[in-house]
Amino acid sequence: MKELPNSFGQRRNIQLTKTEKQQRPLKDPLLDPGGPHLDDDFLALCGERNRRIVKRLKAEEETKRLVEAQQLYRKEHPLIGVLAIQGNYASHSQALIEAGAEPVEVRKPGGLAGLDGLVLPGGESTTILKFLEKHRFFEALQEFCGRKPIFGTCAGVILLAREVRNPAQRSLGVLDAVVERNAYGRQIDSTILTAETALAGGPLEMVFIRAPRIVETGAGVEVLARREGFPVLVCQGRVMAATFHPELSADRRVHRLFVETVAAAHTK
Ligand code: GLN
Repeated sequence: MKELPNSFGQRRNIQLTKTEKQQRPLKDPLLDPGGPHLDDDFLALCGERNRRIVKRLKAEEETKRLVEAQQLYRKEHPLIGVLAIQGNYASHSQALIEAGAEPVEVRKPGGLAGLDGLVLPGGESTTILKFLEKHRFFEALQEFCGRKPIFGTCAGVILLAREVRNPAQRSLGVLDAVVERNAYGRQIDSTILTAETALAGGPLEMVFIRAPRIVETGAGVEVLARREGFPVLVCQGRVMAATFHPELSADRRVHRLFVETVAAAHTK
């Protein structure tokens, strides 16, 4: 008695005569599980085929798991670019790591691709602007600001503002604010203050270096900290700006706030 397969693909001991083989049409058990699948070679083939399918499904499952794990990691540790043209971008990268993000230095417009957010560090806004304008980086940044969170510190705030004074200069116009450059005086007038802010956790150290002053803000701008009545830490949706240098203090609350903003935008 010939043993029949109890389920397709399971190889059994079947010996068929040549005539029997010829009589039975070759059918694909995957397409037609009910049909006769008695061809010995074909069953062997089916076994092999099933093994390959199972292998492929396992690989797909594994890839899916890896992608999910990657997405979860990326959500918890967003990829944040730091404009690394001039200024203290290295301290920002370090601060971002400490705040739970994965920083990446950006020097070309192409470097913006795939980022979850971006930091525009302090430095000399005119120098940074000149570089941006030479490489059509400015337009790429403008486009980026329209869809991803961005955090400007000091010169970075000048680049983000709607209007720049003293002297006037071109800006991205994504922060509804008017900014006056070097408003607190010269380098020698740079100062470190500690003051209460809207952030939980007590007073915050704020390092001001030839800082700009935010002299006007639009209705959509939330002020989180002030100096002499003028806003020094603000946010407007996915745009954040600090006229001081949070990356130069040990306190990571400001960077953490930005990382949280980026993570929240990433989930949307
Ligand atoms: N004074 C600089 C400017 O106007 C900003 C200073 C800074 O980023 N620390 O661009």
